[in-house]
Amino acid sequence: MGLLYPFDIYLCTMSFFTEKGKPFIIAGPCSAESAEQVHEVAKALQPMQVHLFRAGVWKPRTRPGSFEGMGEAALQWLKEIKKAYNLAVTIEVATPVHIELALKYDIDVLWLGARTTVNPFMVQRLADTLKGVNIPVMIKNPVNPDVDLWQGAIERIAGAGITDIAAIHRGFSTYNAASAYRNQPNWPIPIELKRRLPDMPIICDPSHITGNSALVADIAQKAMDMGFEGLMIETHPNPALALSDAAQQITPAALQQLLANMPVRTGDNAEPGRGMELEQLRQVMDGVDAEIIDMLARRMELSEKIGYLKKECNMPAYQPERWNEIVATRGNRADQAGISREFILELYEKIHHHSISKQLEILQGLLKAVKS
Ligand code: PEP
Ligand code: MN
Repeated sequence: MGLLYPFDIYLCTMSFFTEKGKPFIIAGPCSAESAEQVHEVAKALQPMQVHLFRAGVWKPRTRPGSFEGMGEAALQWLKEIKKAYNLAVTIEVATPVHIELALKYDIDVLWLGARTTVNPFMVQRLADTLKGVNIPVMIKNPVNPDVDLWQGAIERIAGAGITDIAAIHRGFSTYNAASAYRNQPNWPIPIELKRRLPDMPIICDPSHITGNSALVADIAQKAMDMGFEGLMIETHPNPALALSDAAQQITPAALQQLLANMPVRTGDNAEPGRGMELEQLRQVMDGVDAEIIDMLARRMELSEKIGYLKKECNMPAYQPERWNEIVATRGNRADQAGISREFILELYEKIHHHSISKQLEILQGLLKAVKS
């Protein structure tokens, strides 16, 4: 199948961003650098199943003095490649003027960058500018790991009457020099967004998550394995010479290889009987979860009793030796049971913290004994 043009997609009942059984692929350079560069990339993408060509025209740079994009001139180049290659194009918009110019040059899809999503005032101004405009919009997660802020930006854009909306997961910034990633993937956040907005497609941007071209394929695969609807991958003819994000861009040839070698979990091997099997396993799991919760309730009862005893003995809630002992013994038990020690200790940190909070309430006389 060739490249899709938005008009064809509007005729389908599905969202602009979904094509049954196939990931929605967005590719193109971090920044549109020259007419030649965008032509070269668009031409190289022709044999691939790319739905949308991306390029930054105004770049939100962390420090002044770095390349800030080619501005309006680049919009003309995008208009040209759109015609020449029958390719829908998307750019980042960060101000109302960007939106007006994007519409003037027939840009097909807009996206809000991470540094915009973080600012509800600006998102609202962009939403106000979009009132009465019929254009698909993608909303990147905010730089900080805040699912409410991300959802809020989506709601503001939806409130302007935009119906085709996708979220882009591009990772979250942390001050962690040791991390392998430029932005932490923090998967539970997009998973929670999907729980809240199940019909909204989520596209993963492994380029900005990794910040490293060598790790892009791995994160792209992870996103597909988790059921994300698409990928946005920065693609440059000569990444080493890119004017922005040189370390994370891949060549069109590398993109072609990545897409060809990437299994997509479409669920198309699910014969009728398998659904029943899945349902049965889930029922057993529901039972196990109920047992886990009942056991935790029993543990909390014990913890409260211990809290009252500590109060009578005038002891503090927290005993470091006891916590050390829990870490050692539960860690060993995890090893014996063949379950990740790290996971169990993370869980116990939460359980222990909850116990201590309850015992603090008891010591402070805030919790009345129900049974003791
Ligand atoms: C980009 O896509 O080039 C970009 C600036 O992304 P983000 O908003 O995710 O940093
Ligand atoms: Mn970039």
